[in-house]
Amino acid sequence: MKKLFVLSLALLLNVEMFSQKNNSKQNEYVEKTFALNYLSNERTIMKFGKISDAIWSYAELGMQEFKSSALLASTLEAEGFTVDRGVAGMPTAFVASYGSGKPVIAILGEFDALPMISQKGRVSKQEPLINGAPGHGCGHNEMCTAAAAAAIAVKEAMIKFGLKGTIRVYGSPAEETIISRPYMIKAGLFDDVDMVIDNHSSSDFSTGYGVSGNAIISTFFTFKGKTAHSSGAPWSGRSALDAVEIMNVSTNYLREHLFYTERMHYVITAGGEAPNVVPDKATVWYYVRNSDDKVEEMFERVLNCAKGAALATGTELVEVRTIAAAHQRHSNKGMAELLQRNIEIVGMPAWTDDEKEFAKAVQKELGKEEKGMPIKIEGLEAPKETFVGGGSSDVGDVTLVAPTATLRFPGGIPGGISHHWSNVTANYGSTAWKGLNAGAKVMAASAIDLFMNEDLRNIIIQEFKDYSVKHPYKSFLPEDAKPPVDLNKELMEKWTIELSKFYLEEK
Ligand SMILES: [Zn+2]
Repeated sequence: MKKLFVLSLALLLNVEMFSQKNNSKQNEYVEKTFALNYLSNERTIMKFGKISDAIWSYAELGMQEFKSSALLASTLEAEGFTVDRGVAGMPTAFVASYGSGKPVIAILGEFDALPMISQKGRVSKQEPLINGAPGHGCGHNEMCTAAAAAAIAVKEAMIKFGLKGTIRVYGSPAEETIISRPYMIKAGLFDDVDMVIDNHSSSDFSTGYGVSGNAIISTFFTFKGKTAHSSGAPWSGRSALDAVEIMNVSTNYLREHLFYTERMHYVITAGGEAPNVVPDKATVWYYVRNSDDKVEEMFERVLNCAKGAALATGTELVEVRTIAAAHQRHSNKGMAELLQRNIEIVGMPAWTDDEKEFAKAVQKELGKEEKGMPIKIEGLEAPKETFVGGGSSDVGDVTLVAPTATLRFPGGIPGGISHHWSNVTANYGSTAWKGLNAGAKVMAASAIDLFMNEDLRNIIIQEFKDYSVKHPYKSFLPEDAKPPVDLNKELMEKWTIELSKFYLEEK
């Protein structure tokens, strides 16, 4: 009898729980369905697809994304968002806000291109649009566009259902050179943010949590020497280029004695103009990468190589200019689980036969398996247990100031290569439109979940607080670091004239 009572109580509770769950699902369903329907509208898909294609055609390099940034900021402004332009000392950075008070949900968005990888859209062989010009080989043309689409859909739901809080888009320049976010944090722009949804275009539809990528310090080392006739009176000169070369020899010897997580690469950005004049100025640009706990110590050793080179060559190390520095990514599990749930609700876009055939043609050209476009959604990615490594992103710093996870949305070709023509060609047109739309849906649905569900927010905040105790945030940027607003200026001035002949309509 007692057993039966317990059983029926359990059943009753279960029914109770089920119906509550069902009710809340029902509520959730209404707000989400509304936002998802808004984004499924043909006109909406076309509007943001065209914005993405237009930014693809502008192909603006980091810190010079004037047209891309303006297009996104004005699109959000026309939808009733308050837009602060030129924030944190960066002319192309902006923050667009809608609503007021807590919670504050931020969506990050990037829009910079990469040098040298110009390519025609939806052509399955390497065919530059303009030989040597920049191109969107990382899909950043789709990313702030998806963020804007998501935020606008959330705004519509906020109006319709009276959701309380603030939705924001962080227009984030120069991700390819890991620049904007640490400066935006330093300017206090994330101080009141509760949760952050980051996004990146991809060839799959996925997310993950835990530590990933590398921390980075990006620094220009400049040496000053003395000019002289290289043949007539070389003894009167002191070559700044020699200092750069000795520094590089030293760092290359250093490699053997660095921890295996270290990555270090450089380019010489100034090294003289003619062999018959001893160069009195030379500059080398280094990326020093490692895990968060080792990167600063590694940087000190590279700096010592520079000091030693100056001493050896009788030149002066006149400037050590760090333009960017970022942490590894520490993605929040609760946020990643939320994104994953919504990825499963939204589902993989349906690809047409033409889209599948195009993907196969690119895969064939690259010598990859000809499997077409992705069908399956991956499970939630757990952190790697041993070596992490790989690239870097300034989103890393954001993950340490607010609970953050990154959504990877589809559209790219499986087997396509990032920062390569095969990626540029796929970031334009129908698959990009569908991919960014699916990404916008997941972000909008996740933001709506966060607005509606305080328990969910509390779980995420608690996880973040516990993690912050173990890994508190301190910027790797020097106190006096300033955003390099002139970065890529000359390059972009050179290419804009040619690129402008191929600009696509934004409407
Ligand atoms: Zn990227």
